Amino acid sequence: MALRVRLKTSMKSSLKWYKPVDGNIHAYINHYVTDALFVLAVIALLMLGVDWVSALSKVGLLTLGARLATKFSGPDTDLIHSVNVRAWGNFGWIWAPYREFIAKGHRGLLSHGITAPRSWRRYPRRVLFVKLFGTLIGTGVRTLYLLVLLLVITLSLDWVLGFVLVSDKVIGFVLSEIALYLLIGFATSDLLHVSYDRVTSHR
Ligand SMILES: [Zn+2]
Repeated sequence: MALRVRLKTSMKSSLKWYKPVDGNIHAYINHYVTDALFVLAVIALLMLGVDWVSALSKVGLLTLGARLATKFSGPDTDLIHSVNVRAWGNFGWIWAPYREFIAKGHRGLLSHGITAPRSWRRYPRRVLFVKLFGTLIGTGVRTLYLLVLLLVITLSLDWVLGFVLVSDKVIGFVLSEIALYLLIGFATSDLLHVSYDRVTSHR
């Protein structure tokens, strides 16, 4: 028991030591773990009788989704100077409304979903829901946020061009199977990010 406590404490302190000044540890963990998970996914699909091309393309999309989310739309977009926001370069400001009006602080329900709001704590079902699916709330909110931005841009382009061309293609892509695999990759990346935050936070 004492050994377990010591191991846990030493793991937490070593993770804290690694806690980067710039948040890159999330990227390292996400890349290594998603690579390992996705190799296992390819093996599982092959064992289920899926052909090589199909297995690799499906898992390739999951990996791409995880990589994109880790770099551009992770839960830490709720911080002004996070790696995610910096990755957008001059367009980092697109996350300002999200931070201001949706996330409203770091590691909140709508960005990380680590803990239920105080007012929910007397409702065990809500607390359990956040424990089980809290991460998915953030993934869903950020995906919707980016989709709304994309829709605004494409509708504006349609308006400038004078006919419907761009928005049709974007909507078609959003409803495609490819987008679904990318979304599962996003969710995997977010889950790993929040799991690391849980281990290193005292909440
Ligand atoms: Zn975080």
